Amino acid sequence: QREQDQALAMEKAKTQDGKLVDVFANLASVEDAEQALACGAEGVGLVRSEFLFMDSEKAPSEQSQYEFYSRIAGVFGEKPVIIRTLDIGGDKPLAYLQQGAEENPFLGCRGLRLCLQNVDIFKLQLNALLRARAEHPNLQVMFPMVSTPDELRQAKSLLESCYQVLQHDGVPAAIPDIGIMIEVPAAVANAKQLAKEVSFFSIGTNDLTQYVMAADRGNDAVSYLVSAAQPAVLRMIEMAAQAAHDAGITIGICGEMAGDPKLTATLIGLGIDELSMSPIRIAGVKQAMRTTQSKHAALKAKEILNAETLEQVLAML
Ligand code: PEP
Ligand code: MG
Repeated sequence: QREQDQALAMEKAKTQDGKLVDVFANLASVEDAEQALACGAEGVGLVRSEFLFMDSEKAPSEQSQYEFYSRIAGVFGEKPVIIRTLDIGGDKPLAYLQQGAEENPFLGCRGLRLCLQNVDIFKLQLNALLRARAEHPNLQVMFPMVSTPDELRQAKSLLESCYQVLQHDGVPAAIPDIGIMIEVPAAVANAKQLAKEVSFFSIGTNDLTQYVMAADRGNDAVSYLVSAAQPAVLRMIEMAAQAAHDAGITIGICGEMAGDPKLTATLIGLGIDELSMSPIRIAGVKQAMRTTQSKHAALKAKEILNAETLEQVLAML
C-alpha cells in the first residue's frame, strides 16, 4: 500500500475530467529540493531565498548565491524553479541590513520595497540569478510584496541593467521569466496593470489574508479573521485569477492554503493553474485533485464566493 501511495504521489495528477494543475513545492535549501522531488513535486513554486541570507552573518556573496540557485535549479532539471528575491523585513530581520525601527514593520519597508532601497545587496542577488539562469533555463524569478506597477518596473529595470553589465563583461547571463507575488490588496486592485508586465502571478495567501482582513497573522485575539477561506480573501483570489487569465498569464498560489486538500477543488474551481506547498502536502493534494471534477468545482466555487461567513464556506467545502 505504501509503495502504491508513493507511486501515485510521483505521478502527475489530473482532475476526473482531465484538467492539469501543476503541483509544486515550497522550499529553502538544496536538501529540501531533493526531498521535494522525491515527494512528487513537479517543480518549485517558491524558493524562499531569504533563508540563505538569514543563515549567515554577512550578506552571501554573488558567487555563493549563484552556486545556491544553480544547485536548486539543477536538482529539478527541466522542471520550473521559481526563486523569490529577498523577502526581508516584517517578521524577518537581517543583522547586516540596517533598518530604522518601524512602528508597523508589516506595513513598512519589507520585501521588494527594502530591496529597492538597498540596491547594492539587491544587485548581487540579481546578478547571481542572471548567471544561474544562463545554465538553467528552468529558473524563473519572482518579486515579493509588490504593490504598484512602478515598483515592478524599477525591479525589472535593475535586472535589465545588471544583465547589460554582465553582457558587457563577457559573463554568461540570461534574463529569466519574471513573476510577482500577489500578497498586498493593492496588487489585486492593480492586477490588470501588473499582469501586462510579467509572465506569471503567484498569490501569497499568508500575507494577502492578513492584509485583506487587517488582522495580524500572529495575533490570537484576531485569529478568527485570519483564514484564507474567508469569503473576502476568496473573492480577492478570484479577482486576481480573472486578471491573470484576461492577460494570458498563469496564476498559482504559494501560501499555506495551497497545501490544504479540503480547498483543492475550490482553488481549481477559481481557475488556479498551479499550487505550491510544503513537500509533505503533495501526495494529499494530488489525491484531492484526482477526485475533483473541474466543471463541478467551478460551479461550486461560484456558490462559495456568495457565502457571507467563514463558517458557511467551511460547511460548503
Ligand atoms: C505568503 O505570504 O503567502 C507567502 C508564501 O510568503 P511568506 O509566507 O514567506 O511571507
Ligand atoms: Mg508573504
